[in-house]
Amino acid sequence: MSSRDSQAEVPGIRREPPRFRPVEVLGVEPVTPRLVRVTLAGPELEGFTVEQPAASVRLLLPSPGTEELVMPSWNGNEFLLPDGRRPTIRTFTPLRVDPEAVTLDVEIVVHGGGAASEWAQAGGPGSPVAISGPGRGYALDAEAPAFLLAGDETAIPASGQLLEALPRETPVQVHVEIADPSARLELPEHAHASVDWHELPTGAPPGDAQVAAVQGSDLAADTRVWAAGEAAAVQRIRRHVFEDRGLPRRQATVRGYWKHGRAGDDSGR
Ligand SMILES: Cc1cc2nc3c(=O)[nH]c(=O)nc-3n(C[C@H](O)[C@H](O)[C@H](O)COP(=O)(O)OP(=O)(O)OC[C@H]3O[C@@H](n4cnc5c(N)ncnc54)[C@H](O)[C@@H]3O)c2cc1C
Repeated sequence: MSSRDSQAEVPGIRREPPRFRPVEVLGVEPVTPRLVRVTLAGPELEGFTVEQPAASVRLLLPSPGTEELVMPSWNGNEFLLPDGRRPTIRTFTPLRVDPEAVTLDVEIVVHGGGAASEWAQAGGPGSPVAISGPGRGYALDAEAPAFLLAGDETAIPASGQLLEALPRETPVQVHVEIADPSARLELPEHAHASVDWHELPTGAPPGDAQVAAVQGSDLAADTRVWAAGEAAAVQRIRRHVFEDRGLPRRQATVRGYWKHGRAGDDSGR
């Protein structure tokens, strides 16, 4: 038994997540006024692969107001910086891995008031960052007769990946909630996809338009549902598809990507 396995069996001690690989920003490019593509590079990315669409990667960022990246250590329950503070760790979709260039692209929503959102706009080439992962993605059933994808802006990278991965002949409904018309972009081509953009009305809680879109959609009995976005909103989607529509649990994957009013400083998870 490895020391990691034996750690996992001690109550109160959590298994240490995969190590952080130090990398740096190679380039930053606006995709829309609401989305920034950040290309990460460095020898530590050698061998980094992502097998499934809509997977996750954790980014360790310099603490707000600093440009230096301090590596945290695992205390058996969470990552902590040497001074006892929690590090700035956020989760993103590993969008594109280029094994030849040894780069990884992530796309970060500019939502006006978060460490990662600000870092994506301010950080330029050479900025230090570290990544851990990938975490598991979506195990898609290639035999399924239809799919429904519902996300908010944070789920645009994952939704695009899913569209690229889904069988070409399978019908796909895609619903994307955007907080601003400028967030709209071209998703990857799929001959049997219908893509609907839903603008969140001013003042409405995040996810309201996404929930309404799912509630108003045609869902044939065997449809597979993938939904991601604000935690409370996707909880409503979960209840709707299971309780109101009676979809079997295995047919829907619903993931909370962020919590309204709460910073995603979830070091250790
Ligand atoms: C598996 C997974 C994949 C993800 N993939 C992506 C991705 O590819 N791109 C991406 O941008 N995000 C993605 N996210 C969501 C991202 O991790 C969160 O939005 C994160 O909170 C952003 O960090 P921040 O430092 O900008 O804001 P935080 O410091 O975490 O939050 C500060 C404040 O902003 C609010 N906030 C956070 N995110 C948003 C938002 N999008 N819109 C409006 N308000 C917000 C919070 O509620 C809080 O009040 C993913 C999350 C998961 C779990």
